[in-house]
Amino acid sequence: MSSPDTITIPAHLLPTDGRFGAGPSKVRAEQLSALVATGTTYLGTSHRQATVRDKVAEVRDGLNSLFNLPDGYEVLLGNGGTTCFWDAATFHLISQRSQHLTFGEFSSKFATCAKEAPHLGDPRVISSEVGTHPVAVSDDSVDLYAMTHNETSTGVMMPIERPADASGLVAVDATSAAGGLLVNPSQFDCYYFAPQKSFSSDGGLWIAICSPAAIERIETLASSGRWTPAFFDLKIALDNSRLNQTYNTPALATIHLLASQIQWMNYQGGLKFSAGRSARSAEILYTWAEASDFAAPFVANPRERSNVVGTIDLHDDVDAALIAKILRANGVLDTEPYRKLGRNQLRIAMFPSIDPEDVASLCACINYVVGNL
Ligand SMILES: *Cc1c(COP(=O)(O)O)cnc(C)c1O
Repeated sequence: MSSPDTITIPAHLLPTDGRFGAGPSKVRAEQLSALVATGTTYLGTSHRQATVRDKVAEVRDGLNSLFNLPDGYEVLLGNGGTTCFWDAATFHLISQRSQHLTFGEFSSKFATCAKEAPHLGDPRVISSEVGTHPVAVSDDSVDLYAMTHNETSTGVMMPIERPADASGLVAVDATSAAGGLLVNPSQFDCYYFAPQKSFSSDGGLWIAICSPAAIERIETLASSGRWTPAFFDLKIALDNSRLNQTYNTPALATIHLLASQIQWMNYQGGLKFSAGRSARSAEILYTWAEASDFAAPFVANPRERSNVVGTIDLHDDVDAALIAKILRANGVLDTEPYRKLGRNQLRIAMFPSIDPEDVASLCACINYVVGNL
């Protein structure tokens, strides 16, 4: 019997690319080449000049096409990633009281931001067991419904739909979903994300697609006299975004990688193409897990199993941490589960950049490792 640390997976079983992390996630080689090809003309130049501002415009226009946005929707962006956007939302998207669907680490974090904001009323939090998702309830006392399209910590996706007869805004954390899951823009007012997941770029930026109602809310709250730190001021972000800029200096490489990815998705057929890639990967992963005698999908309801981040429970006699460690030693990276979930589980990203064939190879690698333990 070989020592677990020395299991060498045969080369023909290995994926072409071993990056399966949920973020930062696989960056396609073509994105990197396109950035390198800019040579001395892009990196190291002013973000207030045309070269960079045109790239930002390309991102904003490209997202407009990708999501087929109705008239009046605008793409805002700023520095600080999704976590920063939650704080900004407590100042300039929530008027008084929000409703939060919480079903894992990320959805809970925004609820906590709202709870702790001294200028807001207590949020209404609707939770469900990890591995499931709750459903929004129409409530006239809330002015914003906070949803999460894909809960990255548990691998649960939920459909984005406005609660019936709701007058409040629908704000969706789509950090890991955007680009990898289908969505109908008429069902949201704010669809926000960061580029280090389906968009195969780096972290540190937030992007928010806003409906006319969300923009009106930003303008109303910004002129309401509510004290707001400039960094979290969405009116400042709106004004800068309209000029294809950010309030302070952005990471230019992040913007370039992001623009390349959006261009790739649009060129290949748009959201139907990119979401289709993730759906195909998910089909491969869950079909393998269901047929396996040592693995099973963690999410019980097949409709709630995420197409972009899969969570696979392993039998008690197969140590997931050891499997992930052996995979890592073979160059197959970041299959460890979300720390705080504390399950004997593998978590596998299936963002559009990840080749469905590589997901099939990963399944074969896991079979090989378990078979040789
Ligand atoms: C990754 C992630 C976040 C955090 O994004 P940051 O850009 O690191 O702040 C928030 N929500 C979801 C659903 C995520 O997947």
